[in-house]
Amino acid sequence: MAQLDLRAKLGILADAAKYDASCASSGTRKRSSEGQAKGIGSTEGMGICHAYAPDGRCISLLKILLTNSCIFDCHYCINRKSSNVRRARFTPAEVVELTLSFYRRNYIEGLFLSSGIIRSSDYTMEQLVEVARSLREDHHFRGYIHLKTIPDADPLLIEAAGRHADRLSINVELPTESGLARLAPEKSAPRIEGAMAGVRHKIEDRQDARRRYRSAPGFAPAGQSTQMIIGADAATDRDIMTKAHGLYDRHALRRVYYSAFSPIPDASAVLPLKRPPLIREHRLYQSDWMLRFYGYSLADISAAADPASGMLPLDMDPKLAWALRFREHFPVDVNRAPREALLRVPGLGVKAVNGILAARRWRRLRLEDIARLTRSVVKLRPFLIAEDWRPVRLGDRLEVAPPPPRQQLELFAA
Ligand code: SF4
Repeated sequence: MAQLDLRAKLGILADAAKYDASCASSGTRKRSSEGQAKGIGSTEGMGICHAYAPDGRCISLLKILLTNSCIFDCHYCINRKSSNVRRARFTPAEVVELTLSFYRRNYIEGLFLSSGIIRSSDYTMEQLVEVARSLREDHHFRGYIHLKTIPDADPLLIEAAGRHADRLSINVELPTESGLARLAPEKSAPRIEGAMAGVRHKIEDRQDARRRYRSAPGFAPAGQSTQMIIGADAATDRDIMTKAHGLYDRHALRRVYYSAFSPIPDASAVLPLKRPPLIREHRLYQSDWMLRFYGYSLADISAAADPASGMLPLDMDPKLAWALRFREHFPVDVNRAPREALLRVPGLGVKAVNGILAARRWRRLRLEDIARLTRSVVKLRPFLIAEDWRPVRLGDRLEVAPPPPRQQLELFAA
């Protein structure tokens, strides 16, 4: 194989990494090299370059694979063993050098590093850990590091990864065990969840130790996350949210990312030919938000889905879908209702609800007060009672649902 220069490898391995959705750096500890005798980087800065891949994914971190070679053959993955793609591989020293040079130019706020599996899970994990170790110990890098973790790797390697990285993630890949067995037969759902449970225990142990001894070493302070591929198998939105809810519950995940399956060249015949609509990914993120920040239960989210197909409606957000299905809970009186009821009003976010609760301690709120706290009071009106407003009845679906998308007519259609 011809030797590739660093720029050519970067082109291949950054492109190969764009299928990984989990690139957010939220939730880490604040840390900066400013004013320190040694070190470089900070997790605090804003204004660092946020790049977007052509398909719209955020790549604000230097997001690369160590290699896109892999000994596994997951059907949905462009890097699988049988895929006919150009292969490349960085050495750990090359990744360190790239990260530092990008950081010095203020292009990135940190590193997101994943990899295909080469030789064995342990060998691959050793290479990933070496990058993080060298950045932290040799170069005193204080920026953000997110390492993708190989579920079968030795627990000592996971331990070393968590010592250096802010966040670890283990991809659950598909929402159902049957989907995983069909599309990624070398992977095992119990092994993936076992690795997640191990990371959770380490995070909790270390948090506990640090409460007692400030000098206790940390472990993945930004927690762990995972990613699910949407639309590669027949799993419904209800299946996906059930899986996500279980993962949050069992492994205290910070985030579950949903990544719409992208058709890949020379794809296996077991995969669908078309990608699912991107709006489906968006609706799943909205449902995830409802679970984590709006007090909805899994049963509530399931009730927002179509009872027969188990799919969330694409033409309206799941909060509105739930409100229309349970009209008896509306309208909600903004001057009396508890926080939980206000959070269920379609169009009212957490910030707006906090604003309402603060403002109503001093006076009774009118519709114009709510308008100041939200983007569009028109959408909210059917669901609210204010001092000067009471809807006659909750409008039917057509009044509150968004208009159907416009379609471009074809000039020469038959
Ligand atoms: S193990 Fe990862 S990189 Fe390898 S084929 Fe499966 S999904 Fe792709």
